[in-house]
Amino acid sequence: MPASTCPACKNTHTAPLQHAGVAVAKDGYRFDYCNNCGLFYVEPMPSDAALHAFYQDYHKSRQYQAKLHSKIKRARKRIRAANRWRRRGDFLDVGCNVGFAVAAARSLGFQATGIDVDADGIAAATAKFPDCSFEAIGIEAMAARGERFDFIYCSEVIEHLSRVDDFLQGLAAVMHSQSLLFMTTPDAGHCSLSKNFKALVTWDSVRPPEHLLYFSRASLNAALQRNGLRVKRFQFSTKPTLKVLIQKA
Ligand SMILES: [Zn+2]
Repeated sequence: MPASTCPACKNTHTAPLQHAGVAVAKDGYRFDYCNNCGLFYVEPMPSDAALHAFYQDYHKSRQYQAKLHSKIKRARKRIRAANRWRRRGDFLDVGCNVGFAVAAARSLGFQATGIDVDADGIAAATAKFPDCSFEAIGIEAMAARGERFDFIYCSEVIEHLSRVDDFLQGLAAVMHSQSLLFMTTPDAGHCSLSKNFKALVTWDSVRPPEHLLYFSRASLNAALQRNGLRVKRFQFSTKPTLKVLIQKA
């Protein structure tokens, strides 16, 4: 079987994720590992139809209704830490779910907008935060309109995507030269996690087909660079979460 192409760096120095010569799987899904950048990912990727069917039953927005207040508080803290000198401007949350980060940004003085492809989440967000603007649209379609934002927030989204390049190019297209993008995703390279693949896939962030891509600093960097973006800085995290500030290349 030919090696797959790494979604992050486009290298083909990839191989099935194995432990002691046996392929490692979780919930019936197998993974490939990129020897160039360190990304591991679901391989083969589920089809668009399979992913669509999965998300029909996902009810993510309901799950996220819980602990809304503490989520707003955490988002406020993250937005403030990323914007020490700047507290105004146009804010966009990509994959905003029920809108807690959008509400947080508005309370800090931003003109705040949230987008999500999940129409149920957008309906819930609109009802909950009527002072903010929400739209059920993907970043690629948003980018086609030519709008630009000063601060873009994208938390726990990129690991869900089967087509990461289209998404990152969409993000780059809504940024100007001074825009900041704050992104979070699970950190498969975190020092607290096992380097043994069999043990690593027991990590609760390994959730195929919900999570398809498992980044580390190097692999996220590779994906960003190929799509017109660059890391400004990785923020330290005690938990296995990448928190990164990104600018246009
Ligand atoms: Zn790679």
